[in-house]
Amino acid sequence: MPFKLSPITTKTALSVNKKGGLALNPYQGCVFACEFCSAIKMNYFTGRTIEKWDKTGWGGWVDYKTNLIDLLKKEHKKIGKSKVYFGNATDIYMPIEKELALIPPILEYFLENPPLELEVQTRGAAKDIVRDIPLLQELAKITKVRISYSIHTDRDDVKKIFEPKAPSLKSRRDGLKLYYEAGLKTRISCMPLLPLDPENYAKMYGSYVSEYVWVAPMYHQHLTYDLFKNNFPDWLEPRFLTKRMEEIKSAFAEIGIKAFIRS
Ligand code: SF4
Repeated sequence: MPFKLSPITTKTALSVNKKGGLALNPYQGCVFACEFCSAIKMNYFTGRTIEKWDKTGWGGWVDYKTNLIDLLKKEHKKIGKSKVYFGNATDIYMPIEKELALIPPILEYFLENPPLELEVQTRGAAKDIVRDIPLLQELAKITKVRISYSIHTDRDDVKKIFEPKAPSLKSRRDGLKLYYEAGLKTRISCMPLLPLDPENYAKMYGSYVSEYVWVAPMYHQHLTYDLFKNNFPDWLEPRFLTKRMEEIKSAFAEIGIKAFIRS
């Protein structure tokens, strides 16, 4: 799919995030263009739209940072004391990463200068995440590494409405499986919770979760309210939603995995 790709330089590599850790994002913009994406604010912050939550053009541009390693070297003192959230703003395993290869040098740098903890956030396809597993395995020998995989549903029809350009559910399950089988710590980030069958969802992905599942309903509801209303109105009902969340907790509990609900 066509999109505008631009190299950029930035002033800092690491920024303090809401959780008190450090965020590291090699990319701005994202071709997956999920309807619920909070990063669409980047449209506004990069001067592409006048309104903060305007989705216009989201998915049609990607900026990539070319000076991250130099900056990391300058900011190295912060790294060893902090948890680093890698790709928490936009996805680091878009297909273009294969060509640009921004991630391996960063992981190699972390092998020399390990953060207190590294959390990789992605919804990348198995074929795109697989390349870096050996480096992550090496890193996991010297610091805590966790993969937080974004998977919100077991239903392809739901995926098609809310995240049509994101990798298929099967390729994400396969990616989660690859990480799990490589011995890396895995969790599922089900934020936002999309319509799903709790039992089937736990069955599809639960075998490849070594830690836990995070579930948050109606994340950035203002972005997706109409999609829910027109397609899945039940999921806007608090009682219906509470019941589904309890079912998710039970379905995962049955296979020995904790599911935490975030309001
Ligand atoms: S993959 Fe993440 S960053 Fe990209 S559009 Fe979807 S939610 Fe936004």
